[in-house]
Amino acid sequence: MPRPARVPEQVIELLQRGGRHAWTMEQIAGGLQAAGHQADFSSVYRAVERLLRAQRLARVPLGDGAAQYELAGEHHDHVRCVRCKALAALECVLHDSDLRAAERASGWSILEHRVVLDGLCPRCRAEQQGGTRRSHGHPPD
Ligand SMILES: [Zn+2]
Ligand SMILES: [Zn+2]
Ligand SMILES: [Zn+2]
Repeated sequence: MPRPARVPEQVIELLQRGGRHAWTMEQIAGGLQAAGHQADFSSVYRAVERLLRAQRLARVPLGDGAAQYELAGEHHDHVRCVRCKALAALECVLHDSDLRAAERASGWSILEHRVVLDGLCPRCRAEQQGGTRRSHGHPPD
């Protein structure tokens, strides 16, 4: 019998072990199963929802429905690879002066921001520069 109350702690342990910056629900469930936990998808889903409410996890704002989750912490922004969808953390890319300029231009008060830059990760950039003949597992565009 799995003990559902333990699943949230197992999720936190998995993400603290690292290996990737942010995780989809499927990757979290797969990671727990690989670690020998008997977590089915619905108990993982409930655990993630609970951790989001407790502000121990945060949802990375990708804006395309592909939700990814990370440990809650200091503010940072993200860059995502347009080819392989890899995601990495960036130090905040906006300065106070950018935010003040946005307030002046819009007449709004800016309370917070979440920036996801689109780019090419180093691996995809190398593959693109090296031509498609030596690509490894990345489908051509
Ligand atoms: Zn990539
Ligand atoms: Zn992040
Ligand atoms: Zn920022």
